[in-house]
Order: sequence, then C-alpha cells, then structure tokens
Amino acid sequence: MVDAVAGTVIVGGGTAGCVLAARLSADPEHAVCLLEAGPVWSGAAAVPEELRLAGRMPIGPASPWVWRYPVRLADGPVTGDIVRGRVLGGSGAINGGYFVRALATDFAAWARECPEWTFDAALAGYQQIERDLDYGEFPGHGRSGPIPVQRAVDPGPASVEFASAAVQAGFPEIPDLNALPESIPESGLGPVPCNIDAGRRAGTATTYLLPALGRPNLTVRGATLVTRVRFRGTRAVGVDYVRDGRVHSVQADRVVLCAGAVESAALLLRSGVGPPEQLRALGIPVVHPAAVGAWFTDHPEIGVEYRGGAPSAPEAVALEYILCHDDLEIRPYAVAFGSDAAVRRVGVALMRPRSSGELRLVSADPRVPPDLDYRYLAADYDRERLRAGVGLAAELCAAITGTAATPRQPDNSWLRANLGTSQHLSGTCRMGPAGDAGAVVDERCRVHGVRGLTVADLSVAPVPLSRGPQATVVLIAERVAGSLLGIV
Ligand SMILES: Cc1cc2nc3c(=O)[nH]c(=O)nc-3n(C[C@H](O)[C@H](O)[C@H](O)COP(=O)(O)OP(=O)(O)OC[C@H]3O[C@@H](n4cnc5c(N)ncnc54)[C@H](O)[C@@H]3O)c2cc1C
Repeated sequence: MVDAVAGTVIVGGGTAGCVLAARLSADPEHAVCLLEAGPVWSGAAAVPEELRLAGRMPIGPASPWVWRYPVRLADGPVTGDIVRGRVLGGSGAINGGYFVRALATDFAAWARECPEWTFDAALAGYQQIERDLDYGEFPGHGRSGPIPVQRAVDPGPASVEFASAAVQAGFPEIPDLNALPESIPESGLGPVPCNIDAGRRAGTATTYLLPALGRPNLTVRGATLVTRVRFRGTRAVGVDYVRDGRVHSVQADRVVLCAGAVESAALLLRSGVGPPEQLRALGIPVVHPAAVGAWFTDHPEIGVEYRGGAPSAPEAVALEYILCHDDLEIRPYAVAFGSDAAVRRVGVALMRPRSSGELRLVSADPRVPPDLDYRYLAADYDRERLRAGVGLAAELCAAITGTAATPRQPDNSWLRANLGTSQHLSGTCRMGPAGDAGAVVDERCRVHGVRGLTVADLSVAPVPLSRGPQATVVLIAERVAGSLLGIV
C-alpha cells in the first residue's frame, strides 16, 4: 500500500538526518518526510532527562535507545558488541558529547580523490555549524551556528591530575583543539570541546530539528523501520517501511539515506546496490553493482586502568581533556567505568589505523543485523602504534600513582585481550570518483550508477578521521543539504 507522497524522504533521524530535514524543509516549496526507527519527540521539553544530561551515556544493557550489534574486533576471534543511537538524534543523542574538528591533514587525504573536500571548504562549514562559547571571536571560529560548543569550565580532579602529569612529561598545552591548523601541534594536551549547553547535550535533534517541527512541509514519523529503497529501473522512487507491524511504502522524488554507517550500508545492500555475488547468494535482485560495505574504518581503543588516583566526577562529561600524540589519542576518562569507582581508565585510541574492516549482509531479512568484521590489529603498524600508546599511557598513570608502570611492554596477546573500539565506524559507502571501484557515492554523496538516491552520514567518509567524527558528520550533512538545495 502506498500511503504518502513526498518530495524528499530522509531515512534516519540521527545526527545527519536531523540536519538534512531541518535544512531542506527551510525551503517552503520542498516537502520533506523524515522516517526514524526509534522514538521521536514533539519538542525539546519532551526529550527524556536521561538523554539530555551530558554527563550520562544511556547505552547500558537495558537501554531502550540503542541498536546493538555483535562484532568481531580481531582474529582469534576477539568479539564484542557496539551500539548506535535508535532515537531522534541518533548516536548524537547518546554519545560522549566530544565535538572536535577533523585535522587539515585528514582533508588533504580526502581531497586527493574528492577535490571539493578541501580543508578550506570544511573550515567554512565547521564555522557555520558552531556557536563556540569560548573562542567564538577567534579566527576560524563561528559564533552564531546552531550547535553550542564549550570546554569544561571546572574540570574534575582526575582530569586535572592527568593533565598535570602530561604537562610534566613535556607535552605542550593546546588550549583550543578546534583552532586553525597552524596553532595545533602534532602532540599536546587540550580541553575537549563539547556540544553542551548548561550541562545539557546539544545534539542535532534539539538544535536543528525540533525548532523546525512546526513547518507544514515537514513530516517526522518515529517507530518507523525502513526496510528497503524501491527502484524503478535504476531510479530510486521511494522506500518500504514497517510501522505498527504493517508494511507501507512512501513514494518520493528523492531518497536520502541517513541511517548511519551500519544501517545505510545494510539498506543499500538489501535494496540491490552492492557486491553482486553477496546479493545473489541472499536472493536479492541486483540493481547496481557497488562496493558497499567492502571497506570501513574505526578507531581501535585499549583501556589502561589504575587505582589510587583522584576520584572521578560522577556528573562530568566522559572526557574533559585529551592528549594527542601524532596518530594516537590518549583519553583520561573523567567518569568511572564499571562498578568500582576507584578504578580509573585511560583510553588509548589509534586514530589513523591501517587495518580496515568489512560489513556483509547475512540475510535479506531486515531484522537480522549485518556481519561486522573489524580486522583490528591486522596491520603490523597498528599493533606497534597501539603498543607505543599503551606504554605512554602506562607511564603517565605510573607518574600519577607513584608506582611502576603496567603493562610495561604489552605483547600482542595483551593487546588482543584488552581490545575495544571507540564506536566511530565509518566509510561503508565511501566517497570517490566514478572510476574508483571502491567508491559508492560521488563528491555530492549521490550513489554512483543510480538516480534519485543520496547517502548523507558517516558512511561516506573515505579516510580515517584523526578526531571523533561527530562534528564532521554535521559538516557532511550541511554540505549535502547545500548541494541538494543548489546552494553549493
Ligand atoms: C556510544 C557512542 C559514543 C560516541 N561518542 C562520540 C563522541 O563523544 N564524539 C564523537 O565525535 N563521536 C562520538 N560517537 C560517534 C558519533 O556519535 C557517530 O559517529 C555519529 O553520531 C553518527 O552519525 P550518523 O548520522 O552517521 O548516524 P546516527 O547518528 O547513528 O543516526 C542514524 C539514525 O538512523 C536511524 N535508523 C537506522 N536505520 C534505520 C532504518 N532502517 N529505518 C529508520 N531509521 C533508521 C537510527 O535509529 C538513528 O537515529 C559515539 C558513538 C557512540 C555509539
């Protein structure tokens, strides 16, 4: 049954989807229908408090706000699970609130194959997004964008203790991690810019979408699971979705997938855009061959723990400082992990790993999650860098506690036993020119080989990002909205 007709259908009201829906519907001539699998809210006042408080990440085993996926992190196998937000605002509604720009060197790598994605272009976008409450008046910053950005005013004792240890070890301070490139050394310690206002998480649901809800040309539907994109030939003409246990369709002039790096890829595959052999084995008719899911990247993270430091701050944001050291990010978590509040954790994340993962569909049934094979630690380089990072973190922890550093020399089995992920999965539908067999979307995020279909979320990032991805997801969404509206 076809139950609605809209100009643009947006699949997924997450970090990117809320931006797209708000920007496209600002044009009154443009009808927009946003379909979100999780709950949606009628206004900011209706958002549950546990989602608003920036000091909480509501992702525990009983959380009703997440998708949960089993994953293979490394061979062995080392298994685990990852989550993604399943609620208006998506992962940005449940995340750590760290809102940092990617580096100029990341955009240099990105622009090598995608010339529109230079750092200068990105900088203009980052400025447009932010209302920096600390550095808004400084060069390269914005002070009137929708997203408030600020650094911890009064960092907790554990954060301060780590920061002093890092400075004593000789690392320079970086007061503004979002400063222009010439002011950011390759190594140094800085307070984390966060998208937080008065202790409340300021994700794209509250800053972009909810203020736009009254527009007559914008429809937002929650509890709506999109199951596939419908094609006429190679033209996307709408989507199928399930709501209240019934299957519906919506026709559209254009479909924009903002379902995140796992679900946008899974939707494309289920709709017949992907590696032909994988699709045929599952009985899915091939619409267009594409390398969907063939490559992804994420930041492997390993925790170094210690006792005897300053107490954690229960209501703090997860991270108040980070120590950047070339391609490593050392994260002294301000909050306790696990039940023992006396145990402190320092995360060691590799930001430009050389190992890459693969996402494969294992069933055409939308209720079955795709297979996620991270292949972390596959590259010698990654193991060596993580070993160096763990060694550095252990030395800094030892300086805090006054005891010998542990682990002293982490071997491969220690790395494997302590392996985790930063949950920044990206690149399953990566951007690149039509001649690149690994590219799924073009520079404007239009899916190669079909018409009327765009992917606008973290799936499209073609290179590892040296910082957390949230700010760059908003940037991608803003740029795609501009291009769909014909502004850029
Ligand atoms: C626990 C956690 C902590 C993190 N912390 C940080 C951090 O502090 N800083 C940082 O920079 N990054 C962080 N990240 C990463 C960052 O939040 C995400 O990479 C980013 O929000 C992804 O944005 P997105 O728009 O691509 O996807 P999402 O924000 O995940 O949005 C996807 C949306 O699509 C919906 N959806 C999916 N499939 C369907 C379907 N079939 N039908 C309808 N709707 C669908 C989902 O419910 C969701 O709302 C964190 C991630 C996690 C999981």
